[in-house]
Amino acid sequence: MKEYDFVIVGSGLFGATFAHQAKKMGKRCLVIDRRGHAGGNIYCLNKEGINVHFYGAHIFHTNDKKVWDFVNKFATFNRYTNSPLASYRGELYNLPFNMNTFYKLWNVTTPKQAQDKINEQISSLHITEPANLEEQALKLVGKDIYEKLIKGYTEKQWGRKATELPAFIIKRLPVRFTYDNNYFNDTYQGIPIGGYNAITAGLLNGIEVKLNTDFFKERDYFQTLADKVVYTGAIDEYFDYRFGALEYRSLRFEHEHLDMANYQGNAVVNYTDAGVPFTRIIEHKHFEFGTQPTTIITREYPAEWKRGMEQYYPVNDACNEKRFKQYQQLSKEENNMLFGGRLAEYRYYDMHQVVASALVKAERILNPVYQASTLPELNANI
Ligand code: FAD
Ligand code: UDP
Repeated sequence: MKEYDFVIVGSGLFGATFAHQAKKMGKRCLVIDRRGHAGGNIYCLNKEGINVHFYGAHIFHTNDKKVWDFVNKFATFNRYTNSPLASYRGELYNLPFNMNTFYKLWNVTTPKQAQDKINEQISSLHITEPANLEEQALKLVGKDIYEKLIKGYTEKQWGRKATELPAFIIKRLPVRFTYDNNYFNDTYQGIPIGGYNAITAGLLNGIEVKLNTDFFKERDYFQTLADKVVYTGAIDEYFDYRFGALEYRSLRFEHEHLDMANYQGNAVVNYTDAGVPFTRIIEHKHFEFGTQPTTIITREYPAEWKRGMEQYYPVNDACNEKRFKQYQQLSKEENNMLFGGRLAEYRYYDMHQVVASALVKAERILNPVYQASTLPELNANI
């Protein structure tokens, strides 16, 4: 008998959720991570009593009651509602695009006036089926908002022209004809009180975790240690970039501790002008309504991913999707391997989607009824 039932590569939300479910079923798990901490991108660093979202702002939101109930077992969530501001050349606008934004831009006060203004800006464009992000954005909110609040931010975030990006990216943002600055439409939203590490610790409670351990340094060893390996790293890296590297966007985080109580009065301020090199400034204390005497801010600088850097965002354009499909095909042929999470599935997943995916895959693979044919089928599902 092998030492473990599962070796799980990656202690992020996917790996930790999977490990938790497997342990509950009496399975022996080893979780490894090449970083010096568990939690993947939801990791928080507590500094001066402030939980710093070390890999960028993380707001939990979902419509899925099962996922919400699941994460609430490990932490109590506060009532934080994400209401970012957009700063364009010194002017502040409310996000997501709503009546407050339209009022500030055009001085319109009714939904009809706002809709008329947008229609006036797009009627000559004749966009029926938006083929890319630019067309999708113009169709949704018109030329003024596209130029002031979308184009600059999007092109620096993705390092590509908005005409070369998939339309779905901008559909993440609600457009509302009400005075409602809530960035999400979901029923449930909040920040875990005390930061995200409580969730990671709860999920991994009682499970063996080895940090600073890179799967690729001892791949054969880890693959012989367990009956199955759950891999949550980048799929192209797993196959040694056989079909070429998939493209990702990376980020550089510049954290700064300031000797003042309140720097920007809001957790998230986006900088939508192409001339500003960062996309947003996060002031972490506001996620938990902090009253500490000092504050910590983080500027987020987008960067093109190169080997050796962290892969933060998949670039799901047609060319990368085609390459991903080739890797996905290989993944189906791998014995005893399960691929899951944002990097292995090459999907722009939010946290709730990662938890949902891990719960479904764990349920299927741990259920004896499905086991025989489950792996290729689950990997095909990614
Ligand atoms: P990860 O968290 O990336 O975990 C993968 C882990 O695998 C990492 O710890 C990595 O070190 C490890 N690993 C990889 N390769 C190896 C290897 N070879 N050997 C050992 N270990 C390895 N979601 C939201 O819902 N709300 C938000 O507000 C939000 N904001 C975000 C902001 C930013 C800047 C980013 C980048 C993401 C954001 N997300 C948000 C998405 C969220 O971070 C992810 O959905 C989720 O954390 C992904 O979990 P995961 O386990 O799939 O991946
Ligand atoms: N976006 C924008 N202006 C903004 C905020 C977002 O144009 O002020 C666009 C941009 O293309 C971004 C996408 O909307 O990549 C999705 O935004 P979201 O806030 O969901 O990005 P994330 O938090 O995942 O980085």
